[in-house]
Amino acid sequence: MSKPVVAIVGRPNVGKSTLFNVLAGERISIVKDTPGVTRDRIYADVSWLDKAFTLIDTGGIEPDSDDIILSQMREQAQIAIDTADVIMFITDVRQGLVDADEKVANMLRRSKKPVVLVVNKVDDFKKYMPDVYEFYNLGIGEPIPVSAASMLGIGDMLDEVIAHFPERNAEEEEDDRPKIAVIGKPNVGKSSLINKLTGEKRVIVSDIAGTTRDAIDTAVKYCGREYVFIDTAGLRRKSKIKEELERYSIIRAVTAVERADVVVIVIDATEGVTEQDAKIAGIAHDRGKGIIIAVNKWDAIEKNDKSVKEHSDRIRQVLSFMPYAEILFISAQTGQRLNKLYEMIDVVMANNSMRLATGVLNEIVAEAVAMQQPPSDKGKRLKIFYITQVSVKPPTFVVFVNDKKLMHFSYTRYIENRIRDAFGFRGTALRFIIRERK
Ligand code: GDP
Ligand code: GDP
Repeated sequence: MSKPVVAIVGRPNVGKSTLFNVLAGERISIVKDTPGVTRDRIYADVSWLDKAFTLIDTGGIEPDSDDIILSQMREQAQIAIDTADVIMFITDVRQGLVDADEKVANMLRRSKKPVVLVVNKVDDFKKYMPDVYEFYNLGIGEPIPVSAASMLGIGDMLDEVIAHFPERNAEEEEDDRPKIAVIGKPNVGKSSLINKLTGEKRVIVSDIAGTTRDAIDTAVKYCGREYVFIDTAGLRRKSKIKEELERYSIIRAVTAVERADVVVIVIDATEGVTEQDAKIAGIAHDRGKGIIIAVNKWDAIEKNDKSVKEHSDRIRQVLSFMPYAEILFISAQTGQRLNKLYEMIDVVMANNSMRLATGVLNEIVAEAVAMQQPPSDKGKRLKIFYITQVSVKPPTFVVFVNDKKLMHFSYTRYIENRIRDAFGFRGTALRFIIRERK
């Protein structure tokens, strides 16, 4: 069940970041040590009423001339059209309607994507409402007045946004074929990998039910089982601006990961693992998906008996927040270990949705507690009463304790490791929710 994607577009200075931050608020549920995610907030989890969605800010850099602004806006709008279910087009009542707004509005209208027209900086409804009506001229629907800075009109705006969400589609819900997103920086070999995997058998699953996105899904049969690869590589965008390319690859990754069961993070062996790989990997970690790190172009490097270890060590170091991820050395060019990749997909997917019986789980934890005494503070010692698994994808556990403050991160990590020793769970994150019971 994938969450809808909502993208924010608009000129510089209309208040996109302000609005993004208001919507993301404290709901931004990000593991502290996931890199990139808190630093530049390109995406966030938002929920309104009973609807959860992923919010994306397509705007990055602040260009200075009008020409550049327009081309930037077109670029942003195109990204939104490619990836979002609903587009929020932000304008500014103080600056009024400008030429660039009209051009972008035309583009959005032609795309036939649902657009919510937001007029920001309406800090005083009485004073500014007459100016808001002018925005009807854009021809993309009713302008919704908000003030991001003073949080006015936000509820009405969100009502409008969620009203445009696609209906849950029974066909999509029932589709139990493994869905695999192949993500990574430009040029690491994502397209090559998908081409090699799908080969002659490539069947384009056109217009996957329930989505209007342009991501190209490809179904492949392997050993009698069908797999669907979500190809983000097909959606290419050329830009000379490095930050923009980076932003775009993150947006594509977020929208693909959202729909996937298993994420294959492709890394270029000839280049080694980088901070940008970590940012992209952080997205999959954050979303609790099954994860395989595919070190590609393994054919192209000089190897000796230490190469695998050296590469693995370096990856574990840079991607230290996901020690559970599987690592596989492959070549999209020669096809090396691609059959192994399928095996891993099956295993990781099973682990990501594995359920443990409460009895065995509590046995393991009791044993762990006996082996290493829980922490204490000022004479009070942590007591773990009970643990139970509440959900899958990723496996999520609730731990009932006497005092939350005593359940240090390191002790949770210890418990996690004992559970992993007993049950494996390779390739998937585990989540722990600590609850107090008096
Ligand atoms: P972005 O470039 O579109 O991301 O715009 P920012 O969020 O950075 O906002 C640009 C400027 O507009 C900042 O100085 C904000 O403080 C201001 N701003 C944002 N929202 C509002 C608002 O609702 N009312 C007023 N008066 N100013 C706002
Ligand atoms: P993408 O941007 O991640 O989709 O990357 P591409 O699939 O377009 O590949 C980028 C470049 O790397 C191309 O020149 C490919 O031929 C090359 N490449 C991809 N996979 C391999 C591989 O396994 N080995 C070698 N030697 N080159 C590869």
